[in-house]
Amino acid sequence: MTGSMLSDQLYCEALLDARLREGSYRALRPGEARRVARLMVDAIASQGDWGVERLTIVGEAGGVYWAISPEAVVIDGGLVSGLVRARIRSKPRVYESDYAILEVAALVLEGQGLLAGDPVLAVAVAPDGEGLAEALAHALRPPRPRPGRGGSWVVSTRIYDPARARRLVEELSGYWLGRRPPKPKPSRARCARCPLRGACPHAAGGLG
Ligand code: SF4
Repeated sequence: MTGSMLSDQLYCEALLDARLREGSYRALRPGEARRVARLMVDAIASQGDWGVERLTIVGEAGGVYWAISPEAVVIDGGLVSGLVRARIRSKPRVYESDYAILEVAALVLEGQGLLAGDPVLAVAVAPDGEGLAEALAHALRPPRPRPGRGGSWVVSTRIYDPARARRLVEELSGYWLGRRPPKPKPSRARCARCPLRGACPHAAGGLG
């Protein structure tokens, strides 16, 4: 299960389910991913030789195999002490789903014995590459990611909570293991932005 599937699942399982049935998960956005990766590399290089990597975290949690690539993994003393998600958004908002993706990745690492004590989850968001570069230069300082806010960007942080991550993964994996049907999450704001709104029987306010 990849990060983009997880992202859709957190948005609305009815959307995830429809996209799985359509087989549409090959439609990635490599251009944007490359751009954010470039910004990460530049931010890391500007900090000197410090323990930050871009890794795909692959492993089992809650009976499901996950493959998630946070934009940065901070390594301290041979263990992961921070996970960073970096996003370009027109409004620099941080969503619960940003943290949820990092929590799943951290739970996988915990099961592999690779997580340091009290690791920091960080989400950096800016409306453009310039703002994101500033946010990352602020956040990525030893020994752990730190929160902050600039003119157009924000870096939000939270200490990883293993009990919360387990509850989340148990809920998410119920769908993947066939224990329950997809749960639609209709809301006016969510459905208005959803690519399925014209065809979804669960859409808030009715079809289209
Ligand atoms: S239209 Fe609303 S309920 Fe339907 S898939 Fe999209 S977000 Fe979910």
